[in-house]
Amino acid sequence: MALAIDTDVVSILDSAAQSPTKPSLAGLSLDGLRSELAQSGVPEKQLRMRANQLWSWIYVRGVTGFDAMSDVSKELRVALAERYTLERPEIVTEQVSVDGTRKWLMRLPKRGTEAKAPEIETVYIPEAGRGTLCISSQVGCTLTCTFCHTGTQRLVRNLTTQEIVGQILLARDRIGDWSGATPPDDGHLLPMTERKITNIVLMGMGEPLYNFDNVKEAMDTAANGEGLSVSKRRITLSTSGIVPEIVRWGVEAGTMLAISLHATRDELRDELVPINRKYPIAELLDACRNYPGLSNAKRITFEYVMLKGVNDSLAEARELVRLLAGIPAKINLIPFNPWPGAPYECSDWEQIERFSEVVYRAGYASPVRSPRGRDIFAACGQLRSASVRLKASERNKTPAQSAAEVEGSGD
Ligand code: SAH
Ligand code: SF4
Repeated sequence: MALAIDTDVVSILDSAAQSPTKPSLAGLSLDGLRSELAQSGVPEKQLRMRANQLWSWIYVRGVTGFDAMSDVSKELRVALAERYTLERPEIVTEQVSVDGTRKWLMRLPKRGTEAKAPEIETVYIPEAGRGTLCISSQVGCTLTCTFCHTGTQRLVRNLTTQEIVGQILLARDRIGDWSGATPPDDGHLLPMTERKITNIVLMGMGEPLYNFDNVKEAMDTAANGEGLSVSKRRITLSTSGIVPEIVRWGVEAGTMLAISLHATRDELRDELVPINRKYPIAELLDACRNYPGLSNAKRITFEYVMLKGVNDSLAEARELVRLLAGIPAKINLIPFNPWPGAPYECSDWEQIERFSEVVYRAGYASPVRSPRGRDIFAACGQLRSASVRLKASERNKTPAQSAAEVEGSGD
């Protein structure tokens, strides 16, 4: 394929020196902030007011230091700065695709006995009239879907609430998406016009329903109308089908839902999405039928990755619409994004169109998800390549050089 070698390497920050010794307050929930303030000696009767002030500085204005908090007393600002920071996850690289997609490789602080600092990826996808942030919920994934590169990476750990929210804060910092923010004139930020991150999808690394509590708290923080204000109607959790948690997620978190279906028969789905052996298609679809609030205005998205000669026949397209009958659904066909060593190929474009036509005639809008950021390995299921690729000796190459090499050899 034609290689996009004008990928812009915005920054590669080597920041071993940045590893925080003080904990960060950025990414905490309101309760979390209150409890830290209490521990810092703020009197009980001021806690609510002070926590609200901090909340607003952190989540509306996006400040990165306590000094900027002009309505907080000088004394308290100094006391907070002694104990805490407002640091986000550390950026290892920031890459910009020719199509405007941005991907950050972030390094998280080591925890417990971790031998090395784990790394995760977050992707921002700008489109006309909206911008979607694709965030990770785990480092790696315990599941082993055969078409997914993340699935080849061993799970290191669940992300904390702060690390999940931290991805949103960092993305907003980098694209100049805070109200009233004046982007520094470093040439890296988009001009400040209006809100850029309008939607969040939990479609990065990991199975979000296996990190239920932290993902829930993080999405509550993201959706809070006094803060980051990304409404739950604009947040979508994607799951491979952890049946017992699906309805619970709907009741407790109430975001939009996407299901990684990818096959219409258990035999094939067992192979592509091995969790299907535990929770087969019929049980999965039952859980979907019971998803709270389901209506034509709140549909479930069914994701279907197009694998050449594997799941892309027209008989399967017809079976797909038959299976979903009665469920308010959208069908999202995803061209397979290749990665080095992947055992599949993407379906031919004509076949994707024929498949999509069957789905469309059955009454479903069937947008084919256009692959975004392929040149920087930011597309669905490719979120592992870069962290592997950019290790050690690779760090000195530009991601464009490395991407060109990997794409050249694998595509
Ligand atoms: N673990 C969750 C969310 C992360 S994966 C899940 O599986 O739903 C996000 C989406 O990317 C899923 O629909 C997944 O099936 C899809 N995906 C994974 N690898 C892909 C690849 N190589 N090409 C295209 N889509 C892929
Ligand atoms: Fe994990 Fe989702 Fe990839 Fe499957 S598709 S391995 S569940 S990240």
